[in-house]
Amino acid sequence: MNALSSTRVHMALDWNRRLMRQPPGAACTRCEIRNPFALVLPMRPGKGGSVKKRPLVCYKCRIQLLGRSGWELHHLGGRPSPVAPVLIDANLHRVLTYLQLGWRREGIAPGSTEATVRDVVALVLVSLQWLTEGK
Ligand SMILES: [Zn+2]
Repeated sequence: MNALSSTRVHMALDWNRRLMRQPPGAACTRCEIRNPFALVLPMRPGKGGSVKKRPLVCYKCRIQLLGRSGWELHHLGGRPSPVAPVLIDANLHRVLTYLQLGWRREGIAPGSTEATVRDVVALVLVSLQWLTEGK
C-alpha cells in the first residue's frame, strides 16, 4: 500500500470512528452542524466513574460559550508557515487541521511548499463545500 492510499484508509477509519461515537443524525443543539469532526463529545466522566450528560454542541459553539469569537487562525502548511495565517470559522479550522494529518503521515515537512499548496487546495475545496452544502 503506498503512502497516499494508506493516508486515505486512515482518514476513512477516523471518519467512521467519529461517526460511531455519536448517535445517528447527531447535530449541534445550537447551530445544527452535523460534521462529525466539528461535533464534540457530549459525555464527560464525572466523579466516582459516573457520566454527566451534556447537550451535544460543535467545537465553535463550545468555544463561543467560553467567551471566544468562534474564529481561529489557520496556519497554511503547518508551523512554521511560509505565509500569513488566515482567519477562518473554528469548525472549518478543526476540519482543515485534521486534514493536515494527511500530509504529515506522508512525511511532508511542515512549512514546505508541498504542505502549503496542499493546505491551500484543502482550504478552497472544503470552504466551497462548507458554503454550498451547509457544513
Ligand atoms: Zn454549533
